[in-house]
Amino acid sequence: MDGSIRKIGIVGAGQMGSGIAHVCALSGYDVTLYDVSDERTAAGLDRLTSTLDRQLSSQKITPAERDAALARVATSSQPQALGQADLVIEAATEDEIVKRKIYREICPHLKPSAILASNTSSISITRLAASTDRAERFMGIHFMNPVPVMKLVELVRGIATEDATFAAARAFVETLDKTITTSEDFPAFIVNRILLPMINEAIYTLYEGVGSVESIDTAMRLGANHPMGPLQLADFIGLDTCLSIMQVLHDGLADSKYRPCPLLVKYVEAGWLGRKVGRGFYDYRGETPVPTR
Ligand code: NAD
Repeated sequence: MDGSIRKIGIVGAGQMGSGIAHVCALSGYDVTLYDVSDERTAAGLDRLTSTLDRQLSSQKITPAERDAALARVATSSQPQALGQADLVIEAATEDEIVKRKIYREICPHLKPSAILASNTSSISITRLAASTDRAERFMGIHFMNPVPVMKLVELVRGIATEDATFAAARAFVETLDKTITTSEDFPAFIVNRILLPMINEAIYTLYEGVGSVESIDTAMRLGANHPMGPLQLADFIGLDTCLSIMQVLHDGLADSKYRPCPLLVKYVEAGWLGRKVGRGFYDYRGETPVPTR
């Protein structure tokens, strides 16, 4: 644990929020997991518990470490619960309007000294910071999915981020045993600036009938040695998140090469958002995933 940061607040108990809570609690931090309702926080806690249990059965952690980590996690649907946090990491839906609304709701309850970070995949840190009461203590801490497995964390400073904020965030992330890269504050930073256009292109390849879901994913797994096919990866990220990132790239860089594929838009409109809802480019509701096209 780092000296100045001991208590962590996490906003959003979805895929990423529960994963961030998991690694923080295992590293000894007290964590408050906050979301809009008790149902959402309970679902996040369930996800966190089952990941800990999987790590326990593969002997990556001991029963005592599992129990201690779980005991460090509290949940709440009240913003006041974030009042003791030294660092609050916002990992809510990838939508700038949602994130701004959250900052308006939570900032009055935070300690004046608290650092506020966003796990956004693509949205301008400078713009998000400007909508808070603490632009100098705001920055991007971008974890990868699944958080307990993926080694990388991208750190992004906004134009107003103070050196002390960046140093504290860096020291905190180092205690989580992650590797840090830093990125300038440009749309989608480094990882998603490169990854999402590839995924979007895979969806165009499907849309234009060049290949089926299965042939596209097999081609990229065996032909480019990717551990997961791009459509499988899109489902894993969440198709709503993929679409938001492409929209941020398209709007922010004003280049038509980033236009989101209409088929991606259609899947999101259908509510087929990928693994988290049981259906996307694959249907996950049976024993094995079945391509939906
Ligand atoms: P998700 O849909 O699984 O979870 C989002 C959570 O935010 C939900 O539980 C929702 O209830 C909550 N939320 C929405 N409005 C809220 C509010 N007003 N107050 C509190 N909570 C609210 O999404 P996710 O995949 O966990 O993504 C979360 C963030 O992490 C996004 O910014 C996304 O870009 C980023 N991210 C995602 C991935 C990925 O692969 N999915 C990877 C890195 C970063």
